[in-house]
Amino acid sequence: MHIGCPREIKPQEFRVGLTPDAAREAAAHGHAVLVETGAGLGAGFEDADYIAAGAEIAATAEDVFARAELVVKVKEPLAEERRRLREGQVLFTYLHLAPDPAQTRDLLDSGVTAIAYETVTDDRGGLPLLAPMSEVAGRLAPQMGAWALQKANGGRGVLMGGVPGVGPAEVLVIGGGVVGTHAARIAAGMGAHVTVLDKSLPRLRQLDEIFDGRVTTRHSSEATLAALLDRADMIVGAVLIPGATAPRLLSRTDLARMKPGAVLVDVAIDQGGCFETSRPTTHEAPVFSVDGIQHYCVANMPGAVPRSATLALGNATMPFLLALADKGWRQACTDDPHLLAGLNVHAGQLTCYAVGKAQDIDV
Ligand code: NAD
Repeated sequence: MHIGCPREIKPQEFRVGLTPDAAREAAAHGHAVLVETGAGLGAGFEDADYIAAGAEIAATAEDVFARAELVVKVKEPLAEERRRLREGQVLFTYLHLAPDPAQTRDLLDSGVTAIAYETVTDDRGGLPLLAPMSEVAGRLAPQMGAWALQKANGGRGVLMGGVPGVGPAEVLVIGGGVVGTHAARIAAGMGAHVTVLDKSLPRLRQLDEIFDGRVTTRHSSEATLAALLDRADMIVGAVLIPGATAPRLLSRTDLARMKPGAVLVDVAIDQGGCFETSRPTTHEAPVFSVDGIQHYCVANMPGAVPRSATLALGNATMPFLLALADKGWRQACTDDPHLLAGLNVHAGQLTCYAVGKAQDIDV
C-alpha cells in the first residue's frame, strides 16, 4: 500500500504523523512510504532519516495526498488539506469532529474513509491513542508549574524539592487519571510533597498502590479542596468527565484564600478548564496572573515537546497503522473492534455516534 505523510500545516504544530522508525517498519512490511520534505524537522527528523528508513521524499503536500492510499497525520486536516482528500483514500489522524461541523461536512463530501485517533479504544475502556498525549501533558505540568513558581516568572519563589532544613513545595493534583498520575510522579520526583484528589475510590486505591506512600491520596470533595487550598504552592487541574466540559472546581473568590504567587496549571483547559479564572494560553505567552495567582493554561501542552510527543504518539499508532496498511481498512476494522471504534466517516456516511449526536446528523 502507498502510505503518505504530509507536513503539518496547523500553526505551531511541530509534530509529525510518521516517525522514521514507523516508516522503516512500514517499508519492511512491503509498503511504499512517501513523506513530504521537511515534515519531520519540527520533531528533529531530517529527510535523510526517512530516506535511510526506506521512504521516498515528496516535494509537495499535493504529491503526498495525490499518491497516498493511506494518509497519516497528527492534527485534523485544514480546509486546504481537505480539498485534496478523495473517495477510497484512508485518513488516520486526530479529528475531534464533534465541535467541528465544517470539517465534518468536508470529510463527508470528500468520500474519504477517516479513522480518528481519539475514538480508538482498548480492552480496558481506555483511549490508547489519546493516552500518550495525556502522559506527556501530565509529566510536563509540574515542570511548567515549577517554572511559573520562580520569582522572575511572577511566582512565589518556591523550590519544588526544598533544601535540607527547608520544606518542599506543596503540590495538589486534582484528578488522578492519566494526566494526574504522571503529574504526581514528576512532582514527587522533583521532591515536592504531593496530594492527589480523585472522586473515584477504586482509582485512589490504585494510586495508593502505585505510589506506595510517596504521594498522599484524598477523596475529592468541595470540603477537602477547601481545606487544602491555603497550603498549596501549585495546583494541577487534571479532571475529566468523559464527553462533558470540565467541572468548575475553583471560583475566583477561592483565589483569595491561596498563597500569593501560587500557581494553577489547568491541564483540563482543552475541555473548558476546571478553574473559573482559566482561559486558554499559548506556548508564546503561557502564563497570566489573576489576583496574584499564576495561571498556566496551554491547550496543546505536548506542542512544547514535539520530539517526545511525536515518538510517544508514533509508538501508539504504529500497530494500528501497520494493520490498516497490511490488511486494508475494512479487514483491519473487521478484525479489531477497537480500531473500528475509530472509524468516524466512510464514503459520505458518518459512522461515529457521538459526532452524529453532537451535530444532529444521522449515523
Ligand atoms: P482521565 O479520564 O484519565 O482522568 C480524569 C480523572 O478525573 C478520573 O480519574 C476521574 O475520576 C477524575 N475526576 C473527575 N471529576 C473529578 C473531580 N470533581 N474531582 C477529582 N477528580 C475528578 O483523563 P486524562 O487523560 O487524565 O485527562 C485529564 C484532562 O487533561 C482532560 O481534560 C484532557 O482533555 C486534558 N488534557 C489536556 C492536554 C493539554 O495539552 N492541555 C493534553 C492531554 C490531556
